[in-house]
Amino acid sequence: MLLELPTTVQWSQEQKKDADLQIWYEWITEQKKPSPENPHFQFWYRDKENVVLDENDVLVRLTRFSTTTRSHVCKQILVPKVYQDRILYLAHGHVTSGHQGVSRTFLKLREQFYWETMKRDINHYILNCPCRGIKQRNAVPRAPYGSLLSTIPNDLVAIDCTGPLLVTGRGNKYIIVIQDHFTKFVEAAAVPAISATVICDVLFKHWIKRYGPMECFCLIVELNFITR
Ligand SMILES: [Zn+2]
Repeated sequence: MLLELPTTVQWSQEQKKDADLQIWYEWITEQKKPSPENPHFQFWYRDKENVVLDENDVLVRLTRFSTTTRSHVCKQILVPKVYQDRILYLAHGHVTSGHQGVSRTFLKLREQFYWETMKRDINHYILNCPCRGIKQRNAVPRAPYGSLLSTIPNDLVAIDCTGPLLVTGRGNKYIIVIQDHFTKFVEAAAVPAISATVICDVLFKHWIKRYGPMECFCLIVELNFITR
């Protein structure tokens, strides 16, 4: 396994040969839109304003990352298939990488690199890494925890329920708050009771109908709501 990152010239050469990246050359140089049947159409549609050729003729995706404390733009190299395993190895399997978990490996990679199936491939790579067996044998059982990651609007949406509060004139006494993790944009709805059906209904009417389905969501709700 090669231990070094490709050079700028190698990135550019291999990107041009990569079948999956051709839509970007067609779009950037000829303004040719991919057909909706193209398997990469969603990627193109979502990132058509963000993918550019940089000064070294390398395809990059410009992405803004926000945390509670800072916000910055990263230039992520679009990684052609031929280099994806090497990047995963350097980020996780290399002797200096420390065999970090999925979230840390993803956070490290996304500062510099991007490909469509990156999250899934990191997961798969780490699940199959020999370090996993060693970690499982030595693991002390503990509750799962981790950082919540979002890279674009509607990537991750959090739902929280508050109440019971004072009953309003319309008989409502709970508030369901829906927040986009990336933009921090919030929608809220007052409801008379909390149940799985009510939450689904609010989620559909107040979010999915307006902004489309989210990639994934995280429900923060007390257990007594679920058991009732
Ligand atoms: Zn490992």
